[in-house]
Amino acid sequence: MAEITFESFGKTKDGREVTRCILSAGEYTAKVLTLGGILQSFQVPAPEGKRDIVLGCETPIQYQEQTNYLGAIIGRVANRISQASFVLNGNTYPLAANNGTNCLHGGRRGKGFDSVLWDAEEQDGNLVLHYSSADGEEGFPGRLEVQVTYSLSAYGALTLNYQAESDKDTLCNLTNHSYFNLRGHKFGSLEGHRLQIDAEEATEIDDTGAPNGRIFSVEGTPFDLQEPADITVQLEKSHPQLELGGGFDHNFILGREQQNPLQLAAKAWADGLCLECLTTQPGVQLYTANFLEQTPGKQGAHYDRRAAFCLETQGWPDAIHHPDFPSAVLKAGEKYQQTTVYRVVAEK
Ligand code: BGC
Repeated sequence: MAEITFESFGKTKDGREVTRCILSAGEYTAKVLTLGGILQSFQVPAPEGKRDIVLGCETPIQYQEQTNYLGAIIGRVANRISQASFVLNGNTYPLAANNGTNCLHGGRRGKGFDSVLWDAEEQDGNLVLHYSSADGEEGFPGRLEVQVTYSLSAYGALTLNYQAESDKDTLCNLTNHSYFNLRGHKFGSLEGHRLQIDAEEATEIDDTGAPNGRIFSVEGTPFDLQEPADITVQLEKSHPQLELGGGFDHNFILGREQQNPLQLAAKAWADGLCLECLTTQPGVQLYTANFLEQTPGKQGAHYDRRAAFCLETQGWPDAIHHPDFPSAVLKAGEKYQQTTVYRVVAEK
């Protein structure tokens, strides 16, 4: 598969060493950090040469000083758990309210899977990251052993394979929070990006960004991306759900259960490149970087609102509070296993 090398990426604020793992295959290079399992750079062949299509930072401290989850692995539970609390098997588990009254992306700043240090090793040309999350960490029950494998092919497919197992019943919903700009990480806007998402429905959000339990049909709304549409044009349209999210910040429904085999979830095109996103997950969060604001990034860049889009493949957010959503409960001893592929090729 890929050739993998390791180099130092400097130290965290509290002096912990961060390693950058470089995966090379054909004309593609992906750089992944042991900090948060962050995809720090994804260079792909483009008409003008190599193009880095993900937003990222230059140092561990730059990552630690922002709250945008650039490129990171998210866990234990992606997106929001409303009211920062849940009940499982009759026990109440209070969580950190780090997003208004909700718990967002696994817990307190600096404590979620996006900010911990992962162990990294090469196995047969793949990069295997491992993190052991202690029983009770960030309020969640059970010791959770998590493994995320990054693989890169010479045909432009970056595959993330997520596996986890807990010794007690718990919640598990893992994703990656890469911000893509197919015109290059510094481009600064979504102009010229077309997007297609293979979903007839999405979950509605309330004014805190958490699902309110309702599912809506995308038909006749700016959320209908079943045919390729210009993202900036869709964002200009008026819709109460777009207003609540400050743009797209919604879970598009791909199915009601795990998709086996992998399904094509979304495609995006811009400036000579095409990104395909395939996944086994039943949902994908389209997030149009509504909260970036002069976020310092690579090569002196400052990333602003709507400078990128995220396709966060996931279980439906806040599933624990909505019995008719696919369950996010991982039973003790059961294996959590999901796969997502981001494949970038010349525009077709
Ligand atoms: C959420 C946004 C949040 C962002 C943080 C997204 O997954 O849906 O609401 O602000 O992550 O960067």
